Amino acid sequence: MSSSPTDCIFCKILRREAPASLVYEDVNTLAFLDIRPITPGHTLVIPKVHAAYLADLPESSPGPIMETARKVAMALRRSGLRCEAVNLWIADGTEAGQEVFHVHMHVIPRFAGDGFGIRAGPEYGRMAGREQLAANAAKIRRAMESH
Ligand code: AMP
Ligand code: ZN
Repeated sequence: MSSSPTDCIFCKILRREAPASLVYEDVNTLAFLDIRPITPGHTLVIPKVHAAYLADLPESSPGPIMETARKVAMALRRSGLRCEAVNLWIADGTEAGQEVFHVHMHVIPRFAGDGFGIRAGPEYGRMAGREQLAANAAKIRRAMESH
């Protein structure tokens, strides 16, 4: 699934056509509060260029997203909101939980007992065999070289 900049809710926020609680803006990125916060202060960092998926981003875009997320994470810890730790999270694709198809990084304040967690399948926790790890790493290396 994808969306055009005209319909995209995050592009509307960028154009100030939709409301948002802004926390930071620079030439490449905008950061604003998630409307359904996992914890208070849950922030989204978006690139100013519309891209549905990571693969669609121009090469210059990923770095500034991470830099802004880092600034927001540091600010959250100083903000007075409850923030003992931080999760950074990107859902890239529907099966990964992506609901808004404009790349965004979640910056989620975490604290003991906040109730948030990531579920994994029943196989999680089992150590992978070295042969399997090597075979999978080789597949990924080949894919990286072919680009
Ligand atoms: P994801 O599942 O990673 O695509 O997350 C999309 C996030 O965008 C969700 O956490 C939503 O609560 C949030 N969201 C959707 N619409 C808005 C909006 N208008 N303003 C702020 N956050 C939004
Ligand atoms: Zn957009």
